[in-house]
Amino acid sequence: MALSKERVYYKAVRQAITALGSGESLKEKLDTIARLLSRSFDTGVSIVLFDSTRKHLIHTASWKLPPYYLRKGIIDAEKSLAESAGEKPVFIEDVSTDPRIQYREMAEKAGIKSILGVPITSGEEGYGAIRVYFKEVYRLTNSDISFTVTLAHLAALAMGNTAAEQENKAGILPLNMDPGISKTSRIVHFAHESEAEFARILDFYGINWIYEPRTFPLVNEKERASEMFTPDFYIPSLDLYIELTTMKQNLVTGKNRKLRRLKELYPEIKISLLYKNDYDRLLAKYGAGPLAQSRAHSIRKVLFSASEIDKRVRQLAETISGDYRNRRPLLVGVQRGFLCFMADLMRQITIPLDLDFMAISYYGQKDEVSVTRDIETPLTGRDIILVEDIVDTGITLDYMIKYLQAKNPSSLTVCTLLDRRARRLVNVKLDYVGFEVPDEFVVGYGLDYHEEYRNLPFIAIPEIKEFPQK
Ligand code: 5GP
Ligand code: MG
Repeated sequence: MALSKERVYYKAVRQAITALGSGESLKEKLDTIARLLSRSFDTGVSIVLFDSTRKHLIHTASWKLPPYYLRKGIIDAEKSLAESAGEKPVFIEDVSTDPRIQYREMAEKAGIKSILGVPITSGEEGYGAIRVYFKEVYRLTNSDISFTVTLAHLAALAMGNTAAEQENKAGILPLNMDPGISKTSRIVHFAHESEAEFARILDFYGINWIYEPRTFPLVNEKERASEMFTPDFYIPSLDLYIELTTMKQNLVTGKNRKLRRLKELYPEIKISLLYKNDYDRLLAKYGAGPLAQSRAHSIRKVLFSASEIDKRVRQLAETISGDYRNRRPLLVGVQRGFLCFMADLMRQITIPLDLDFMAISYYGQKDEVSVTRDIETPLTGRDIILVEDIVDTGITLDYMIKYLQAKNPSSLTVCTLLDRRARRLVNVKLDYVGFEVPDEFVVGYGLDYHEEYRNLPFIAIPEIKEFPQK
């Protein structure tokens, strides 16, 4: 005799808990949960998780669903079933009439009649949802719901544990990833190592991606779908699909043909076959171009992305604009590292201002500083804001402050983008600080290492052994 529904559910919950306690990977645990649900309901099940932007949902572990359905396209989280955003399960009894369905045609083609969606959440954290796809108009019961909710809790537990583990051993990730980067991105199983490498690079530069979200049938209406094409990546910010190419010429020819076909059939789709040159260009778009082209050392870690810098500089400018209301400050920069910071800062300051700059040089072990290009603006009675790229030992700043004070300004404050307190030798007062940096040499956004890296739009730690001499 068949087990009662309750017995089936109970058994599945027990097995899910066992899987949770096992040493399996997160992907394996989610696969198990999807499989147990699929077996208990005897139907297709998928676990969809948010990507790092939370704008898209990605089929991460699925059972008994056709690949063309799983790769039907990018799932827009906002337009998707409300359950993934909220706390409550959502049930769509009739797919053919419900307005909440994003890919109705696909769903109908796959014979899906009803969909149950249950959010995967834990406290404040929302991870995604479980979707159960029924092939008949399904009569949902309360025990169906509590069973699915229970497995969703277990999936959330698995996600939460993995996130905590990853934080603990963050140091050993292959590249030091931006904390904002998706937890889900790390549980993708890539077909080739080059794809994993490419994903790591995208992560490194904070570029969001989705792996193989869509399969394109390469046939006309009446033909059978004998040929398919599944591009490797989709980059939401560029609305671009990317197919990586290996160096083997015969593979490239085949791919080129498929790509031409795809472009004919789907003219609205942007897709790029990525050769080495394209790859460099893509990185350049995200500011890593100077790295691709230069013979300089590579970058170990991006400390502050261009957008983080932009945000912080805006805040500083807003504070300064408020503090200097009804005055006309004179911004003084010290060549040459201040350039990017000054250019961005002054454009965000909303009050009138003046600008001047100085150049200095160092003697001996850099304990002595002297001015090699002086300010041309008279300083008496002025409100000076000294703009620095980075305060390290404080020797430079200390010298500059004394030098400028001697010219009788009515006030003098210091605005530095970066502050490295760990190496401070001279105590100097900083009025406006962008970011604190660790005890490591940094480059980018105006800062150089032997005149390299100045034009990186982000701030990063280069792969060098020790602090260079100034
Ligand atoms: P300090 O006199 O405070 O030791 O050093 C200040 C100056 O040294 C900065 O204005 C900057 O020109 C240079 N400097 C200090 N730390 C760094 C760093 O991490 N990277 C780069 N590129 N320059 C630095
Ligand atoms: Mg400097």
